[in-house]
Amino acid sequence: RTVYVNGDYLPETEARVSIFDRGFLFADGVYEVASVVGGKLLDFHGHTARLQRSLKELELRSPVDMDELLAIHRELIARNAVDEGMVYMQITRGAPGDRDFHFPDPEQVPPTLVMFTQSKQIVASKTAETGIKVISIDDLRWARRDIKTVQLLYASMAKMAAEKAGADDAWMVEDGFVTEGSSNNAYIVKNGKIITRQLGTEILPGITRAAVLKYAAEAQMEIEERAFTVEEAKEADEAFYTSASAFVMPVVSVDGVSLGDGLPGPVSRRLREIYLDEAVKTAI
Ligand code: PLP
Repeated sequence: RTVYVNGDYLPETEARVSIFDRGFLFADGVYEVASVVGGKLLDFHGHTARLQRSLKELELRSPVDMDELLAIHRELIARNAVDEGMVYMQITRGAPGDRDFHFPDPEQVPPTLVMFTQSKQIVASKTAETGIKVISIDDLRWARRDIKTVQLLYASMAKMAAEKAGADDAWMVEDGFVTEGSSNNAYIVKNGKIITRQLGTEILPGITRAAVLKYAAEAQMEIEERAFTVEEAKEADEAFYTSASAFVMPVVSVDGVSLGDGLPGPVSRRLREIYLDEAVKTAI
């Protein structure tokens, strides 16, 4: 596989980043994941808009502008012949010669940009046909989850807890309300109404979330943006989550309680279809 590191396209075995990189020592960096279908990028401008916001919040700079970033994405897709899968990109605050909590002077220490692709079948998904099981878990992450940082240890721990419990993912709970999934935004459906938490510092503003809510509104579906409890989720008609790598994924049980008839619900299935249609149509 060919990967990208600070201006160079290299075989993955030759790619190198300093051990002093602040991404490695402090999780001081941001990332984006864009999916690829038919060799084209889905929701790309949404991802770059969020990237720029994440960078601004952390006083980080991108070493390349957004047009160059798109060109690098395309070059990697071409070099690796990616038909379906994703492109991962991350920007960290570079590598000063020492470990120091203070941010280095960006004029002296340039940020590190790395990118790579992963080929994977994502449109035709067995998992989407059967749906997935979630457990609930305390949300113990930091309080700025609206910034897409590479600090993902708790998300990893949440996924491990789900696996241990025989489930597929964990929905995190704070002050009695679901925030979001370990790497996705959470939704329930009650009496035809789609309910998902409102944006704020408590959750990541999902790019897929924005697209799905837009398409749902265009399809005259009813939407309520508010926090919901685990109890409400257990009593919902159906549930699902959204993310760039899974699109719309039906959820069929919450903490062992089956939703509806235990199969992916009609709203989830319809939204997955609409999202895929529309996102592929506008892919670049
Ligand atoms: N919430 C969290 C915590 C995530 O990590 C992700 C994606 O990685 C999402 C939500 C979904 O965001 P997107 O639709 O932009 O992939």
